[in-house]
Amino acid sequence: MFDKTNCASCENIDCLTRCQWIVIDKETARIEKEKMNNGEDSFVLKECVTCFACDEYCPYNSHPFDLITELQEKYNSYNIHPRMLKTAINNFKPHDQLRLKEIDPEKQVLNKCAFPKQNAKNMEGQLFENLQYVSGLSYFCNLLYHHLAKDSVIRERAPIIIDNIRKQGIKEMICFHEECYGFYASYCSRNNIELPKDFKPIHLYEYLYNYLKDHEAEIKKLGMKMAYQRSCSNRFIPETDKWVDKICDLIGVERVSREYDRENALCCSAAFTALGKGNLVEPTQNRNIKDMLDHGAEVCVFTCPQCKETMGSKVESKGLKSYLLSDLCRLSLGEELGY
Ligand code: SF4
Ligand code: SF4
Repeated sequence: MFDKTNCASCENIDCLTRCQWIVIDKETARIEKEKMNNGEDSFVLKECVTCFACDEYCPYNSHPFDLITELQEKYNSYNIHPRMLKTAINNFKPHDQLRLKEIDPEKQVLNKCAFPKQNAKNMEGQLFENLQYVSGLSYFCNLLYHHLAKDSVIRERAPIIIDNIRKQGIKEMICFHEECYGFYASYCSRNNIELPKDFKPIHLYEYLYNYLKDHEAEIKKLGMKMAYQRSCSNRFIPETDKWVDKICDLIGVERVSREYDRENALCCSAAFTALGKGNLVEPTQNRNIKDMLDHGAEVCVFTCPQCKETMGSKVESKGLKSYLLSDLCRLSLGEELGY
C-alpha cells in the first residue's frame, strides 16, 4: 500500500525523475506526484510502462507503484479493449474447488505456478525431481494484472489463493517464479493481506544456492560471461538479487557489469503491446541486447520465463545463448538440458 508520508520532504522525487520511460523534470515531477497523491489523474499514468522500477527507486520504501496501479485502474489509463481484458481476467481465475494432494507438510513444496507445462523442461533434473510440488491456477499469484491496470483483480483473488495454501497445508513453498515470491514476500505484507502464520515463501535462488552449497564438490565451474536480465517483479524484492551473485560465484559465471543491469535494468517489454506501446518494443530490446554484446556477454540469463519468452529468440539471433539461471545451475552439475 502506498505511503505518502515522506513525499512532501522528498528532495528528488526519485520515483518519477529516475523513471526510464517518462521524460520529466523535478518541478513537473513534484506537481504530478502531488496530483496523484491526491487521487487525481496525471499524464504519468498513461506514459508508465509498468516496469515497477519506481518502487525500488523510492528512497523511503513508500511503494509509489501501488498508487500508480490503483490510479491507472481508476482512470482507465490504457483503455485496453474490454473484450481482451475480460478474456485475460477470466483465463487465470483461480479454482476455489481445490483437489488436495498428499504432501508432507514438514518438507518444502515447489510451486510450479499456473504454467507447469510451459516450463516443464526447466524443472527437470536433480535440482527439482525430488521435490514435492503443487501447480495450476489455484496457486497462481495473479500479479500479472499489474500490467493490465487491474490491481482489484489481484486483491480479490489473493484470499482464495492463500486459502488454498492453507487447505493444502503448505508451510515452506519454493516459488519457481520470482513474481510468485514477490506476491507473498512483498505484495501481501505491504497490503495487509494475512498469510498463514506458519507459512514461509522461499525464493528459488535461495533454494538453488543452498542445494549447490550442499553439492559443491560436484560443481564444474562454467567459465561463462553472463548478461543478467532482471525481472520487473524483482523491483519489489531487490534484496533477493544478492542470490544471483552468490550463485554465479559458486558456478563460475561472471555477471558482466553492463549499463542495463542492477538498478538500471531495462524492462523486457513483454507488456508494451497490450498497453498500446508496441512501438517501444523493438528499440528497447535492441539497445538492451547491444548492451549485452558490448560488455562481452556470451549468454543471456533470465529469471522470468516470460522475459525469456519475449526476448529469448532475439537474443539468440544475435549470437547469445539464452537460459534461466536454474539452467546454468543444472549445467554446472553436469546435467544435459533436454532442450
Ligand atoms: S514515492 Fe518515494 S520517491 Fe516518490 S515522492 Fe514519495 S517519497 Fe519520494
Ligand atoms: S512503473 Fe516504471 S514506467 Fe511506471 S512510473 Fe514507475 S518507473 Fe516509470
